[in-house]
Amino acid sequence: MAHTERILMGPGPGNPYPEVIEAFTRPVIGHLDPEFIELLDDLNDRLRQVYRTNNALTFPISATGSAGMEASFVNFVGPGDVVVIGINGVFGTRMADVAARCGAEVIAVEEQWGRAIDPQQLLDAHPNPAIIAVVHAETSTGIRNDIEPLGEAKGDALLLVDCVTSIAGIPLEIDGWGIDIAYAGTQKCLGVPPGLSPLTVSDRALERLRETPQSWYLDLNMIRKYVTGEGARAYHHTAPISMLYGLHAGLGVVLDEGLENSWARHAAVGGLLQEELPGLGFELWAQEGHRLPQLTTVTIPDGVDDVAARHELLDRYGIEIGGGLGPVAGKVWRIGAMGNTARERNARLLLAALAQIVKRG
Ligand SMILES: *Cc1c(COP(=O)(O)O)cnc(C)c1O
Repeated sequence: MAHTERILMGPGPGNPYPEVIEAFTRPVIGHLDPEFIELLDDLNDRLRQVYRTNNALTFPISATGSAGMEASFVNFVGPGDVVVIGINGVFGTRMADVAARCGAEVIAVEEQWGRAIDPQQLLDAHPNPAIIAVVHAETSTGIRNDIEPLGEAKGDALLLVDCVTSIAGIPLEIDGWGIDIAYAGTQKCLGVPPGLSPLTVSDRALERLRETPQSWYLDLNMIRKYVTGEGARAYHHTAPISMLYGLHAGLGVVLDEGLENSWARHAAVGGLLQEELPGLGFELWAQEGHRLPQLTTVTIPDGVDDVAARHELLDRYGIEIGGGLGPVAGKVWRIGAMGNTARERNARLLLAALAQIVKRG
């Protein structure tokens, strides 16, 4: 069994911050221990700062980003509700699947993979939807979808946004952009291993919280009694103590660096990759002007074998990158620079390794 240090430059997880790994080794205490409650309250405060929100209901769901997606729909969507969803990649497609399972009437606004969704098309899709939902950073294509115009013109609808890959990687303003429901992941730009899904819900959305969502585990009516200070703390499920230590530490790293500095570091490293890769024969695939710095997509040059080249990167250089998904499987690579991985030295190492691989063809 190999225990090689990898440089994780795939679509996620990125490499965790050392402070996070250290936090995992702290002694486990009870989830109702006042010391732990204090840490949880502090964690949620840090989360509010990184999300740029004052939402009282802001906390990590005890499961991965996909559970955040489920929680966002199952608590607010019921049979017959009209939900407009932007689809330009894997994660928009999943949102539509989840909403449909809640019984929603899904109105899909589809855009070609690798291109951004026009916010006006989402706004024009229905005169009075219950929810408008979109993925901020489409990790399957490397595209950033614009959110701000949606918040300005959403009317009575709730704005629901997948922030799994955007949080801490690119500018994101929950309150400033009028986002009502957002979920994220820990393993992308927050520099924490996978396992939790930071969720935030506006007071406006809470007024529409369903009384009996079709999920027991993700029912916010019950979870909020544990995670918010309001009323008595009540047991719902055992909080994943060590994961929460890890996220608390990761948010601390981001805030110590400065959220805007974290955005700038991701921009610089992604920018370096996107500047240098074309010189090696890789074409940037995602639409210009909407490219994510934390996830670069490139077409694979002729003569380079998709699978063999990625195996060589992993075996010989210890660098992981991701292959393409869906319609572009075998045609594009997805190169991440997320969290602690977003460092110039990692980008330069990958570029040097790729130069060797491409030279041999
Ligand atoms: C990774 C990802 C998810 C799913 O998160 P998991 O932690 O894998 O469940 C959802 N949406 C986007 C945009 C992602 O990148």
